[in-house]
Amino acid sequence: LVLAGLILVKLGGSVITFKDRPFKANYEVIDRLSMELSEAYASFNGALIVAHGGGSFPHPIAAKYGVHEGLKEGVNHRGSVLGYALTQDAASSLNRVIVSSLLRHGVPAVSLQPSAFLIARRRVIVSSFLEPVKALLKHRLIPVPFGDAVMDEELGFTIISTERIIRHLAVKLGASKVIVCTDVDGVYDKDPKRYADAKLIRKVCSSNLPNILESMTPSTSPDVTGGMLHKVVELYELAKLGVESEVINALKPGLLKQALMGIRGLGTTITA
Ligand code: ADP
Repeated sequence: LVLAGLILVKLGGSVITFKDRPFKANYEVIDRLSMELSEAYASFNGALIVAHGGGSFPHPIAAKYGVHEGLKEGVNHRGSVLGYALTQDAASSLNRVIVSSLLRHGVPAVSLQPSAFLIARRRVIVSSFLEPVKALLKHRLIPVPFGDAVMDEELGFTIISTERIIRHLAVKLGASKVIVCTDVDGVYDKDPKRYADAKLIRKVCSSNLPNILESMTPSTSPDVTGGMLHKVVELYELAKLGVESEVINALKPGLLKQALMGIRGLGTTITA
């Protein structure tokens, strides 16, 4: 199935939660973004998926139990599986907050739990069951998946980032565009929160990708799957398959709505 005009939006954990405060959602921003999504969707004929990151909900627990590293056997087994379950529950709790907010704004949002429809092998998604997602989209319902703790054929379980889930869905469902909302203006040559002289890169493509990857430092994000480098890598893989993406600052009111209405050049575009 290839839908005409399927847009995938990602709301970053940095936008919808306070990363330094466990289990603290940013209700004000969530409410505003729901309104922007609602307004844009009203004048849009295509299909929409609104995915979101976990921020301060699952990540502190995932880090504490090492869920990303997989199931621990032996004496640690019991704590390890509890850590998995707690992480999955935390991710799902934030999902309910997002879905509720979208519903309040009249957006027909439906929770979509990735751990219930996909399987990974060494953190790579190897199979998924997307028939329900296709049916939701066909009827203009809006699936809301999220970065989740999922089962892994080799590791037992792991964390799959929202970017990776988006990449999978975008390829399998034939997306036309991906909009990634985060808390900075786009991809910079170095972390703009740490370096005042960091420069915004308007376009990432094959000619400047090697330089960008070299200059970007590995993640200092508290999220186990976080950081801008991971986003660039995942989004470039997607670009190579023909799906363009844009990283924008969703803390700036109106930007998500403008991006959904087709305005370009609002942040960093990632193309092949
Ligand atoms: P999200 O929760 O929105 O997915 P992350 O916290 O994982 O976002 O990543 C976004 C953060 O990455 C920004 O807040 C920024 O401080 C940091 N960062 C590090 N290096 C860069 C870079 N080169 N360009 C942009 N942001 C960067």
